[in-house]
Amino acid sequence: SKPLLLVLGDQLSHDLAILCDAPANAVVALCEVKDEGRYVPHHPQKIAMMLAAMRHFAEELRQRGVSVHYSRLDDDDNAHSLIAEAERLAERYACDSIQAVRPGEWRLWQAMQARRDAALPWQLHEDTRFFTTPDDFAAWAEGRKSLRMEYFYREQRRRSGLLMEGSEPAGGKWNFDHDNRQPLAADAAPPAPPRHRRDTITRDVLALVAEHFDDHFGDLTGFNWAVTRRQALADLRHFLANALPDFGRFQDAISDAEPWLFHSRLAPALNIGLLSPREVCEAAERAYHEGRAPLNAVEGFIRQILGWREYVRGLYWTQMPAYKTRNHLAARRQLPDFYWSGDTELRCLRRAIEMTRDNAYAHHIQRLMVTGNFALLCDVAPEALCDWYLAVYADACEWVELPNTLGMVLHADGGLMGSKPYCASGKYIDRMSDHCRQCRYDPKQITGTHACPLNSLYWHFLERHAERLSDNPRMALIYGSLRRMTDAKRDAIRQQAEAFLARLDGEESYGGGTQH
Ligand code: FAD
Repeated sequence: SKPLLLVLGDQLSHDLAILCDAPANAVVALCEVKDEGRYVPHHPQKIAMMLAAMRHFAEELRQRGVSVHYSRLDDDDNAHSLIAEAERLAERYACDSIQAVRPGEWRLWQAMQARRDAALPWQLHEDTRFFTTPDDFAAWAEGRKSLRMEYFYREQRRRSGLLMEGSEPAGGKWNFDHDNRQPLAADAAPPAPPRHRRDTITRDVLALVAEHFDDHFGDLTGFNWAVTRRQALADLRHFLANALPDFGRFQDAISDAEPWLFHSRLAPALNIGLLSPREVCEAAERAYHEGRAPLNAVEGFIRQILGWREYVRGLYWTQMPAYKTRNHLAARRQLPDFYWSGDTELRCLRRAIEMTRDNAYAHHIQRLMVTGNFALLCDVAPEALCDWYLAVYADACEWVELPNTLGMVLHADGGLMGSKPYCASGKYIDRMSDHCRQCRYDPKQITGTHACPLNSLYWHFLERHAERLSDNPRMALIYGSLRRMTDAKRDAIRQQAEAFLARLDGEESYGGGTQH
């Protein structure tokens, strides 16, 4: 027998299940296809990173003596869908089966499953590069009333042994988040990321992407993503030495000037397979044991990967396809045009969108509490917001983007992922960032021409969704404040918010005031 081994763009790991003990006659296929590049307008940096990483990985395989077929976007005979292209290649190389590993998208997994009994059968394998499989998650979730991440995470700590002292968590606590909520200190100096060299492969890809995708949102100039394992390891070392020690304390901080702060920038490399989550967590744990980083930072960092990343993946695979259609708060507004231009007077939104345009990156709190919170408060439709997040970030893959956007940000899954919506007013942005000082709006005012729109939107959101949210014990305090407001104050707030939303919708229908 002779298999075709289909390696997807986010499976660039030499220890991928189908590559580990591949027979000598196997043909490995890597395919650039238009179908995958175009269904949302991906950021040019994201496309360039994927293509450059795929081309480098194909070279590495060839150097290891593997026979590789690499389909390029501009090949004349390219079938331009993964299924069709793999089947075309299998025939061409006289293979009798196609082997593939679970992809990052339900849609593609279904398409593969449907070909299992085809004349040229697809043999499908579990992805072993995570700490857990979807079956592990399903077993954990079974019979539980609530699927809180924190409990899942504790089980993964025990299972992996990461940051454990016998059966107890290191430092006597599972979670040190209490220490991790500081705004950026005036004297904090976030490190500049290392600059990666652009070899011929990368330069060719950048030229190709500049030519074919210049109509997509996003600037290619500052491209600096790791496209080889070697570069990804350099980013990891840089993070451990320069940013991890302060990762914890400034994890929630937002800066008007600094896009990366003390974040790792490792999500793209993790998601396409250049780094394994296990090696990254183990490296961080070593930094703690060797006294190079404090426990609150290391625990906070490991929780993001061992906890959140595995948890959202489990949720995705066990809840799809229904998950994608959920809309608990019946949100219907289209995405404001300025998400594609940054053309808004709200300084926090403008800067988050500009950074996204320049870097194909915004850190977690910008995604959750700036672009996410605004969309939540304005009832933006889940589908519209999900498409945006999937398009604009270098690390965006559906399995991780969807639960974060639909569940964590929009509360559209009815509280499966978070027990309450992360809604916030301008006060939060003022506390955690330096944006408001440079904004034309005042975070301390709720009504009037200078009032930060987030404030009236916040109360308006709570009032609008009282039926669904006011019974939530975690929201009791805030609904208490709403109830104690005078009718006159509530009316004024409602009018302020409705006027803002009407302007937002007006701009939409004219497409005016904004530019792409
Ligand atoms: P760090 O802050 O350095 O965190 C370390 C690592 O932890 C990340 O690299 C990532 O692998 C993991 N991680 C952290 N938070 C999460 C989380 N909530 N869910 C899953 N993994 C997490 N992450 C993606 O990888 N792809 C996405 O498409 C994506 N979409 C998101 C959409 C929204 C609306 C929100 C709120 C979050 C999203 N995230 C996504 C999670 C998180 O924001 C990014 O992983 C993180 O910002 C990437 O930057 P970093 O590597 O510097 O992360």
